[in-house]
Amino acid sequence: MTEETLFTKIIAGSIPSDKVYEDEEFCAFRDINPAAPCHVLIVPKKVIPKISDAQPEDAALLGRLLLAANKVAEQLGIAQDGYRYVINCGENGGQEVLHLHLHILGGRRLSWPPG
Ligand code: AMP
Repeated sequence: MTEETLFTKIIAGSIPSDKVYEDEEFCAFRDINPAAPCHVLIVPKKVIPKISDAQPEDAALLGRLLLAANKVAEQLGIAQDGYRYVINCGENGGQEVLHLHLHILGGRRLSWPPG
């Protein structure tokens, strides 16, 4: 049985979300607490709790995650001006949801380095 997480519930539709993209492997929806004018999370349907848990057999999935995120950024209309991908990992990384996800942030000039 697949482990249940907040994001598996969003993917299944038992928790409502503003979905912007879905295919057989990934689901993308707007972050409920946006940190930028455009803030979308793209999540593999396979539950990998943290990026540090990824295994060699996940290499192709991780590659496809980035390519799917590129497609979502295009679809959101932020690709031309640029955007940022973020993966938080563990406590010091500020990860709250233990289901691997990539933040897609754009719609304004983002500061660097992060705080
Ligand atoms: P992280 O801190 O990297 O684990 O990111 C988790 C993100 O999930 C945060 O940016 C939250 O705002 C977001 N989030 C939490 N609950 C929901 C929800 N129900 N729908 C959409 N985004 C959510």
